[in-house]
Amino acid sequence: MVEIRLKNSKSRRVEVLDPIIPGKVSMYLCGPTVYDRAHLGNARSAVAFDQLFRLLRHVYGAENVTFVRNFTDVDDKINARAAETGREISDITAETTQWYLDDMGALGVMEPTHMPRATAYIAEMVSFIEDLIARDHAYARDGHVLFRVRSFAEYGKLSGRSVDDMIAGARVEVAPYKEDPMDFVLWKPSADDIPGWDSPWGRGRPGWHIECSAMSHAILGEEFDIHAGGSDLLFPHHENEVAQSCAAGHAFARIWLHNEMLQVEGKKMSKSLGNFFTVRDLLDQGVPGGVIRFVLLGTHYGKPMDWTEKKREEAEKTLRKWYDAARPGGAVPEAVVAALADDLNTHAALAEIHRLGGADLGAALSLMGLWDGTVPDWATAFDVDLSAFEDRLRAARVTAMQSKDFSEVDALKTALLGAGVEVRMTKENVELLPGPDFDPAKLEDL
Ligand SMILES: [Zn+2]
Repeated sequence: MVEIRLKNSKSRRVEVLDPIIPGKVSMYLCGPTVYDRAHLGNARSAVAFDQLFRLLRHVYGAENVTFVRNFTDVDDKINARAAETGREISDITAETTQWYLDDMGALGVMEPTHMPRATAYIAEMVSFIEDLIARDHAYARDGHVLFRVRSFAEYGKLSGRSVDDMIAGARVEVAPYKEDPMDFVLWKPSADDIPGWDSPWGRGRPGWHIECSAMSHAILGEEFDIHAGGSDLLFPHHENEVAQSCAAGHAFARIWLHNEMLQVEGKKMSKSLGNFFTVRDLLDQGVPGGVIRFVLLGTHYGKPMDWTEKKREEAEKTLRKWYDAARPGGAVPEAVVAALADDLNTHAALAEIHRLGGADLGAALSLMGLWDGTVPDWATAFDVDLSAFEDRLRAARVTAMQSKDFSEVDALKTALLGAGVEVRMTKENVELLPGPDFDPAKLEDL
């Protein structure tokens, strides 16, 4: 079996994936809070760990991988959106959940094995919290339940922070119901006009962190192989998940993976800078989902990435070429799997794919979530086989090297450039790529 190595945020080392149950892998990814469209940064996390899901299925067999990605459908941001718009909360969450599935589907993100909604696991959260209170790791006060951070000696280990530094560095306003400023909310009271559930502490709703501890436990058990999420979740969300689960006596996640953040043209994506894109914005502008996925996979998940117009153009050209050359029925070449198994090095995997053609290319593209066996409409807008021209140009160059007469080569190049084809000539190779202004009619007389 292929050995998969992953950089564990917990140990800060690259470790071999050694599943708890041999031959079976379990993974949990923190999913979206459903009140708005997913933006490009959200998509990065979904695509990166979809790629890991695909690799795991390839290596272990589809039936041996259990992947859980939750929907946070109880949250104050959702309540605020309902208050702003006068809409029902359930309408907002149902609509946004479907948007997320549609938009991620357009990026080739497969549906995980389980997609639990937080509101379907309130009973599990309540009993999880009761257990923490029984163990003295949590306390109830004024309708709230708080996690007693000082009771958990390992707090801060995952994110590499000490509790004292966190208190010194943060100007935490101490709520009257907190024993300690670091304590975080497991349960809070709900006013009549916002969602609430009956509990031993009165009508209320869960804090955000508890849902992932309760749902991963309910579906995957006390210990599972991989927990993933964006680096923005490392603290406090993941630190708090660890505190809750481990304080409840669970071993919890063995390997933690965090994807780095995304920028646009070198700047932080923000609404005020006018460079904020939702996935839907890009799809509506005509950027194909496969192109978005390609660009996202072009940077290793553990490195900050920059979304640029140039990368988008390059991705589109490359995919057009690949779709033209790909054939079904192949097996994924080992080098591609090896690149992915090396801490999900998608950048290196794409570089390997550049060498492939035919059925090998088709199989590799399928594993990357970039091909379902049919050429997407956007890539067939023109259907011209440039490889014949590549052959002609190569042959003309060989002749010209002997005769020292390059007029034929130059004439071909000029005609190709005139038709909007990008001509790349290296010592070893000739490569033709249709550019955005490609006009196949101009090649007919050649
Ligand atoms: Zn989570």
